[in-house]
Amino acid sequence: MMDLIKKAEETHELSRDELIALLNDGQYCEELFAAADNVRQKYVGDEIHLRGLIEFSNICRNNCCYCGLRRDNHNLTRYRIDIPTILEMARHAQNLGLKTVVLQSGEDCYYTRERLCNLIREIKKNGLALTLSIGERNFEDYQAFRDAGADRFLLRIETTDKELYLRHDPGMSWDKRAKCLSDLRRAGLEVGSGCLVGLPGQKTETYADDILFFKNIDADMIGIGPFIPHPDTPLHNAQSGSLIMALKVMALTRLLLPDINIPATTAMETLAPDGQAKALQSGANVIMPNITLDSYRRHYELYPGKTAVGGAPEDNMQRLKDKISSLGRQIATDAGSSKHFTNRQNR
Ligand code: SAH
Ligand code: SF4
Repeated sequence: MMDLIKKAEETHELSRDELIALLNDGQYCEELFAAADNVRQKYVGDEIHLRGLIEFSNICRNNCCYCGLRRDNHNLTRYRIDIPTILEMARHAQNLGLKTVVLQSGEDCYYTRERLCNLIREIKKNGLALTLSIGERNFEDYQAFRDAGADRFLLRIETTDKELYLRHDPGMSWDKRAKCLSDLRRAGLEVGSGCLVGLPGQKTETYADDILFFKNIDADMIGIGPFIPHPDTPLHNAQSGSLIMALKVMALTRLLLPDINIPATTAMETLAPDGQAKALQSGANVIMPNITLDSYRRHYELYPGKTAVGGAPEDNMQRLKDKISSLGRQIATDAGSSKHFTNRQNR
């Protein structure tokens, strides 16, 4: 195992079988995490990039079986934040010192291309970097968002096992989602993807394929989230994903894609109080503090426990600063584009 970890640390290449061997191994996790931490430091440094997350609508036309925002969940109070209030939240993020805001929502058709482009242009006037995470759209929409000034886009593939994807995302198409990722790249956006870990039916083989998929699409950012069952979904009786497995998938992603941005995800922190700290020491270099007003935020329940992470934005920022300095790391002062993206632009 140590030879494989060393190989990954030095060459950033592993075969599918080698990935599976490391994912199945239970003894060398700490060594794997330490190697990912070294590679993180060597390629993207000690700075941690903060992204202010604005959850601007919890209305969704899709019915993903794992997600609390799925359209058949009628136990959820739905909301849609108006544009002036979103702009106010973005200004608040900037006042807190954040350099990037992430606009995330369910797939909500109210936000047409035109409405979103107007919003993007307004936010960009203040010089913030802007990430969208609003689901599947056509190429023309992505192109229009880029032209309006959006910088990045997050769209997880969720799993590369097509059969499993079909089972958990009824009515959706894996090929369409994969095409969205190539359309985003073609539109000139920084492309983020990622997967869930611990969905019923996922295996170590699936995670190995997921990691190779991230490399294959030449991703700029990858977010890995342990699955957490939501009581108002068909998967309410399923087991939670394991934090250790999610950290292993994340660490291996860092080893194979050394210069990308990787968040310590909120789902990791939801599973364990030191989940994000552990992630930051196992390959992650980004945190996404939630700056959505509490009156909305408590209804953005992708999974239970999520809305409790952080607290009020001001308190959350102070706690994050303390956490980051206790790890001997610093908050970045620039917008924190993916080095992988910048390197590709310069090639
Ligand atoms: N609608 C957009 C963005 C919001 S959902 C989209 O689907 O891309 C953001 C992410 O939340 C999803 O990509 C999914 O990976 C994650 N998520 C949803 N339900 C979850 C659950 N029960 N546990 C952990 N993560 C979940
Ligand atoms: Fe909608 Fe995204 Fe949840 Fe699927 S994961 S139901 S697309 S919010």
